[in-house]
Amino acid sequence: MTLLRVENVEARHGLLQAVRGVTFGVTEGEILALIGANGAGKTTLLRTVAGAHPLSGGLISYDGSYLTGVPAHRRVRRGIAYVPEGRRLFPEFTVEENLLVAGRRARSGRWNLTTVLEAFPALQPLRGRLASRLSGGQQQATAIARALMTNPRLLLIDEVSLGLSPKAVEEVYACMTVLRESGTTVILVEQDLGRALSTAGRVICLLEGRIALDAKTEGLTRDEVVTAYFGFH
Ligand code: ATP
Repeated sequence: MTLLRVENVEARHGLLQAVRGVTFGVTEGEILALIGANGAGKTTLLRTVAGAHPLSGGLISYDGSYLTGVPAHRRVRRGIAYVPEGRRLFPEFTVEENLLVAGRRARSGRWNLTTVLEAFPALQPLRGRLASRLSGGQQQATAIARALMTNPRLLLIDEVSLGLSPKAVEEVYACMTVLRESGTTVILVEQDLGRALSTAGRVICLLEGRIALDAKTEGLTRDEVVTAYFGFH
């Protein structure tokens, strides 16, 4: 079943058109990586789906109805969770408090404090630690765990591994395995092409606001990816 449908979507920053007529669908349970060079429009596209950035053209439908005019907080209630670039935890709250705040008015489902901490055992000993005292990898894992507390059907994760040490990247990608196994539909923005291609079943590459490649990762050649990424080979 198609959970999300993005149709001819356009988004601007003032006069600059960052997203220029993008169309794709996401099937329930799919993990889709969104790649592309700096400034290709990945963050802007993800934010339009989350309702954090206005559409200037096109339509987005989710679970069979259009999201036009639905504010970001109501999209969360309908199961769209967004992990922004930079994590944005509450720094003076503990890990547990950050999780509980997200779960307060959440949809009901399999995820709650107990099940999230079981799924992310690395967070268990950090429950009482202030978010400001976490490493980058721990913060990213907490941010993903916090998004899960809302029991999303669609999880949008921006810049999954940006600025993280290789060890932290490993920790965060352990979370991806949990997400895949739980059948959560994920769109992730990832700068690390190797990670993106090995994690996702499908990849979309944006080039100057347009889709340059939309393909299953299996069988995709490096040349195809590089050509889409840079617009030449
Ligand atoms: P990055 O990997 O650098 O975050 P991206 O692919 O996510 O890149 P966006 O951040 O969506 O790309 O940016 C798309 C275009 O919109 C770029 O040209 C960028 O300079 C511009 N842009 C992004 N945010 C703003 C903003 N707040 N104000 C003005 N222009 C912006």
